[in-house]
Amino acid sequence: MKILVVGAGPSGLMFASETKKLKPEWEIRIIEKNHPDANVVGWGVVLPGRAPHHPANPLSYIENHEILDAQYLEDFKLTHHNQSALKSTGVTLCGAERKSMVRELRQLCQSLGITIDYEQPAVEDAELLCNEYDLVVVSNGINHTTTYYRDSLKPKVEFGKNRYMWYGTPKTFDAMNLIFKSHSKGIFVAHSYKYSSTMSTFVVECSEETYQKSGLDEMSPQEAEKFIASVFESDLDGNPVMAQEGLKWRNFMTLSHEKAYDGNVALLGDALQSGHFSIGHGTTMAVVGAQILVKAVFDNPDNVEAALADFNQHVMPIMRLFDQHATISRLWFETVEDRMHLSTGEVAQSFAERRGELPPLPAALGQALERALARGDK
Ligand SMILES: Cc1cc2nc3c(=O)[nH]c(=O)nc-3n(C[C@H](O)[C@H](O)[C@H](O)COP(=O)(O)OP(=O)(O)OC[C@H]3O[C@@H](n4cnc5c(N)ncnc54)[C@H](O)[C@@H]3O)c2cc1C
Repeated sequence: MKILVVGAGPSGLMFASETKKLKPEWEIRIIEKNHPDANVVGWGVVLPGRAPHHPANPLSYIENHEILDAQYLEDFKLTHHNQSALKSTGVTLCGAERKSMVRELRQLCQSLGITIDYEQPAVEDAELLCNEYDLVVVSNGINHTTTYYRDSLKPKVEFGKNRYMWYGTPKTFDAMNLIFKSHSKGIFVAHSYKYSSTMSTFVVECSEETYQKSGLDEMSPQEAEKFIASVFESDLDGNPVMAQEGLKWRNFMTLSHEKAYDGNVALLGDALQSGHFSIGHGTTMAVVGAQILVKAVFDNPDNVEAALADFNQHVMPIMRLFDQHATISRLWFETVEDRMHLSTGEVAQSFAERRGELPPLPAALGQALERALARGDK
C-alpha cells in the first residue's frame, strides 16, 4: 500500500510508525508544513499512565523515553481564595514536553524507513495527491483553512467564549494544579503541572470581558507575560511565565466531524476532533485514533474502502464522547464566575462533578484501544 500522511504531529507519526512496524513493505510518506527545527506549538502536555506500560501514552512507543525527562503526577491541587485542596487523582499521569515527544516520534518514523518531507504544506485539495496514493491520512491538527474541509464530512467549528494562552514557567508544579485568581479586573484561571524537572505548562484562561478590562488585548507579548506573572505571583513564587514566539491569546476552537473519511482520505487527531485542554486528552485521542486506523488498514490490506468504513465505525463513537466531555468542561470554565462565591471545597466538588452524567472517557478509550491492538482479530 502507498500512504501519504499530512502533518508530522503525534497522530500522524503514531499512525505511520505503528503501520510501518506491521507492514514494512508498505510505502509511507509524511509531509510536514514546518522546518524540522521549528518550534512545536505548546510546552508540555499531560498523558495517561507510566511509559512504557500504558498503550495510550505515546512515550510508551519511544524506546529511549527517559531522555524526555517526563514527570509523573499522582495528585490534584485546587486553589481558590488562596486556599488549596489536595487530593489523589487515583491514577498516574505523565507530564511530557511536546517538542521532544514529537522529535522522538519523528526519529522513530525515520528509523523505520518512513520519509518525512519538511516545509511541504498541503493547502489545496489537489495537494493531497489522492490519485497517487491508496490512502491519504490528514493529521494536520486544528486547521480549517485547507480544502480537505469537505462538506461530505459535515465539519463543524465552534469557538469557546474564554480567551486562553499556553504559557510555560520554570516553577515546577508537583501536582495537577488548578488555580482560580480573583483579580481587580476579573477572574483568571491557571492549569499547571510540571512536564520536566525544570519546566511546567501554565495555561491561563479568562473571560473576554476580563481580557479586555485588564488591557491584555492591547499589551505586547512581554507586557502580557509580566501582567500574568503578577496576577499569579504567589503561586509562581515570583517565577516568570513565557510565551512561545508568535503564539497569541485565542479562543479555543473545537473542530468536529460527523464522518472520519471521504473516498480514500481519512482524518486523524485534532483534524478529526479537537477537545478543550481542560480535560487534557487530545494527544491520548490522537494515539487511540491512530491505533484504530492501524487496525482497520491492517485487517483490510486490499480494500481501503472497507478499512475506512471500519475505522469510521469504531473511531466516531469515542470521538463523540470526547467532544461531549470536552464541551461540558469548557462550558464549566466559561461560567466559572458564577461559582466564585463558593468555598474552596465546594468549587473542588463542582469541578469534580462537572462531567458526572457522561460515561467515563478512560474506560471507553481502554476498550477501543484493546480492540485496536488485537490486530487481525475482528
Ligand atoms: C492549551 C492546550 C493544552 C493542551 N494540553 C493537552 C494535554 O495536557 N494533554 C493532551 O493530551 N493534549 C493536550 N492538548 C491537545 C494536544 O496538543 C493535541 O490534541 C495534539 O497535539 C493533537 O495531535 P495532532 O497530531 O492531531 O495535531 P498537532 O499536534 O497539531 O500536529 C499537526 C502537525 O501538522 C502540521 N501541519 C499543519 N498544517 C499542515 C499542512 N497544511 N500541511 C502539512 N503539515 C501541516 C503541523 O505543523 C503539526 O506538525 C492541548 C492543546 C492546547 C491548545
